Amino acid sequence: MNRSVEYCHGGRASRVAAALALACAAAIFTTQAAAKTDERGLPSCSTFASNDEIGAALAGYESTYAEIADAFTVGTSVEGRAIHGLKISTDVDVESEEPEIRIIGAIHGNECLAADMVLAIAEWLLDGYGDDPVASDLIDGAELVLVPLVNPDGYTGTAATRKNANGVDLNRNFGFAWVEGDGDEPFSEPESRAIRDLSQAASFTLGLTYHTIENYVNGPWNYRPEHPRDDALVDAMGEAYAGFSTYDVVFGWDWYPITGDVNDWSLGTAGTFDWTIELTSDTNLYWDVHGEGVAAFLPFALQGVAGIVTDAETDAPLEARIRIAPEGEPVFTDPDLGDYHRILLPGTYEVTAEANGHASATTTSVVVEEGLVTFVDFALAPEDGSYALRVNRMEMPEVIDEGYSASSYLNDTVASDALGEPDGAFYSMSPEGAICLDMGPTTPVVDVAGDDVEVLSGTGSGDTIAVYAAAGEDGPFVLLAEGSGDVGADLADGALAEARFVRIEDTTSGPFNDDEAGYDLDAIENTSLSGSDTDTDTDTDTDTDSDSDTDSDSDTDSDSDTDSDSDSDSDSDSDSDVDADTDTDTATETDGAAVAMTPGGGCGCAVAGSTSSSNGLLALLLGR
Ligand SMILES: [Zn+2]
Repeated sequence: MNRSVEYCHGGRASRVAAALALACAAAIFTTQAAAKTDERGLPSCSTFASNDEIGAALAGYESTYAEIADAFTVGTSVEGRAIHGLKISTDVDVESEEPEIRIIGAIHGNECLAADMVLAIAEWLLDGYGDDPVASDLIDGAELVLVPLVNPDGYTGTAATRKNANGVDLNRNFGFAWVEGDGDEPFSEPESRAIRDLSQAASFTLGLTYHTIENYVNGPWNYRPEHPRDDALVDAMGEAYAGFSTYDVVFGWDWYPITGDVNDWSLGTAGTFDWTIELTSDTNLYWDVHGEGVAAFLPFALQGVAGIVTDAETDAPLEARIRIAPEGEPVFTDPDLGDYHRILLPGTYEVTAEANGHASATTTSVVVEEGLVTFVDFALAPEDGSYALRVNRMEMPEVIDEGYSASSYLNDTVASDALGEPDGAFYSMSPEGAICLDMGPTTPVVDVAGDDVEVLSGTGSGDTIAVYAAAGEDGPFVLLAEGSGDVGADLADGALAEARFVRIEDTTSGPFNDDEAGYDLDAIENTSLSGSDTDTDTDTDTDTDSDSDTDSDSDTDSDSDTDSDSDSDSDSDSDSDVDADTDTDTATETDGAAVAMTPGGGCGCAVAGSTSSSNGLLALLLGR
């Protein structure tokens, strides 16, 4: 409908007024929800008045569909309420080499229809297994994790609220393009941490995040005007969902820019394509509008390229980064089994696997066909060389709001450009912004003689940086070095024996939206693992040593059920493998020395000198 176009281009005031009018219609849409539920027997806002009842519904699904449903607790809210989750898959108690899909709702506590929609999807999947072909394919070929209500404190009580019990908007508290003021630091809130930990443990390929009240299918990016580098794919995903509804596809920035949200964090740190669906309060709330959209959208997880990355000598699964050419955001293996999944449109691609301590390998001419997964495994030979594996967090110095137009935000680099070895592609940081990089769970920086890490500038830009390190992503971070250009850092200067996370703060001020805004970060080399040579070998050796390795060959085996042989046991930790426990972050041996800590103490701590923000009325009222 054209109404959404008006919103898209309308001024702030008109949108606020519209949102107010819609928000005031709560009683109306509750009634409508009840009417729709009566038709289909679905749960509704009025049916599930409390978080406990949602938990009971999920437990009921588990008992009714024991073979394919597993209810679990994702985390605990500020006020101690359980955040309830449901995993749906065959062999539901076992983690398998399947793509994982995350569907969440009601990050904002006053958006009960969003929780309803996630429950409706659960019912469609569970009811449809063995009957509905799409639901069956998804359950056979993927693992789906559903969290209907992320913000139970905001949802519960007489007056539902958008924010959590600490007054924080959880959909501004995620650690990508985070801005000071939305919580003390990224993931300051237990609810956002719960989704973070769930996501890091599961390695999601695709996601849906439900909000109200609009009629938008909203894709990334939200913090920047450019579309993701997978532009055609992202367009196709949006159209697949929206094509079955009266909804419009919108890219976040074009609606209104936001920072620190779930969509951007998912794509920017994990390569997860996560979409926000803004449910309208129009008459058709449920399946007649969204069922076909969901059924067209979720199977994207079953199309593209997938495989296992292992060590060529030991066959052990590797924590690896998968890059696709033509370009797109990288994805990462699930370290438990070494499996990766990368959604692609039909076409021919080059797939590269990169893992620390191993030679990278590329398979060319990988053909992806409609509705199918092409399997490409990699067995990587050990070889020196260890660099930043993945982006953990990224922070910006100020709120991007409607004052910034697409033509005023010119920085076309993205955080993932800082990953891997020096390659000439760099992430141009925001002045007074920060980035935190994960050097890899199995390849942390260790203290050796001399410098242990080398921060490599792509351009020798004059911005100054401060280099911090910590064992765990939540800190405490200790200052190791300051400088400009290439900067070496020694863990001993922070009294650290080992560190998995390296945080870079740009300490130069200036506009953050220029094309080469701040410090140009090409790579962080973990020189502590590469023997003697601390000499920044900035050779841009793009070793496109195509094939050679990797048996693989695109064997495009038809039928969508991606998973080759269920699980390969390996880890016997069967059930509840989805839930929380981030584990692995190498025993904090900070041995208490007096060291400089960043103000907030975490990878996402406040950046000195940044302006505080309040999201203001607009964010309080509008959906996402
Ligand atoms: Zn919302």
